[in-house]
Amino acid sequence: MKPELSVVIPVYNEEAGLAKLFARLYPALDKLGMAYEIVFVNDGSRDHSAEILADQFRERPDVTRVVLFNGNYGQHMAILAGFRETRGDIVVTLDADLQNPPEEIGNLIAKMQEGYDYVGSIRRVRQDSAWRTYSSRAMNHLREKITKITMTDQGNMLRAYGRNVIDLINQCNEVNTFIPALAYTFARKPTEIMVEHEERAAGESKYSLYSLIRLNFDLITGFSLIPLQAFSMLGVALSFVSAALFVLLLIRRFMFGAEVEGVFTLFAIAFFLMGVILFGIGLVGEYVGRIYQQVRGRPRYVVQAVLEQSGEQTTQAIRAARRG
Ligand code: UDP
Ligand code: MG
Repeated sequence: MKPELSVVIPVYNEEAGLAKLFARLYPALDKLGMAYEIVFVNDGSRDHSAEILADQFRERPDVTRVVLFNGNYGQHMAILAGFRETRGDIVVTLDADLQNPPEEIGNLIAKMQEGYDYVGSIRRVRQDSAWRTYSSRAMNHLREKITKITMTDQGNMLRAYGRNVIDLINQCNEVNTFIPALAYTFARKPTEIMVEHEERAAGESKYSLYSLIRLNFDLITGFSLIPLQAFSMLGVALSFVSAALFVLLLIRRFMFGAEVEGVFTLFAIAFFLMGVILFGIGLVGEYVGRIYQQVRGRPRYVVQAVLEQSGEQTTQAIRAARRG
């Protein structure tokens, strides 16, 4: 039977919290009275998450499917692989750490049934460390300015997507992407609702400062060329200023002869400009690196196995390795 609702959950080293997740997720979905499926994607966990997911599959094979990666490809790749396995008309994404309460799924569905094809969510009170909350807010502002994507709270994964959006995402082959933004570009009628946010049930965040910076570069470079264009505009402005300075220095040379005072100021300006140039080169590198990964066209992730019930029979099948 084809499910109406598919829930996709990426899992990376979440052994400590999975039992709590199952205990809340399944009852919450059973209560909705819809035919549903849950697609867990194990993103190469190094702990016992894969075994725990396999046990859960044996427990509820009717509604559970497990995609097992052969390595760690990141949260967004895991969700993309999950999307390819979904069959529901509505697809909901959720974190495995219970920061997104499963009880909110019903509210997302209700909103989808009003005719929207993308329901984002805004965390009422965000339960993350202060620096995460503030830097994320700043990035949210920047993204709002330089992309056409309107999202109040970009970092939250508790979202619902219509089948039309998922089908389009499944046609994409982007190596570095940010799913809520990608989905937004395909949505015909997007909206947002307020949801609760909880502290992590167990374990710790899988995002270091470094991977957060990488992720934000994915978001910006994947959806906007404005950073590059801003650099060429800055280049134009600076060349005018330096041309004027050159003329001024030339005039002074003939009026007052050779001068050396103020040479430190000149150094300061030169070092500042060097910094700007280095940043610009780095920025170009961010785009070039992504173009390079894209043209190499290597598989974005490798699925080792999929645990699912095959067809009408109760025999449990393990599908063999595939690439996506
Ligand atoms: N995750 C993943 N692969 C990764 C990192 C994270 O599948 O490489 C999953 C993780 O298990 C969780 C979700 O992505 O379900 C969000 O991760 P986390 O809670 O660590 O992020 P945060 O809430 O700190 O942004
Ligand atoms: Mg989390």
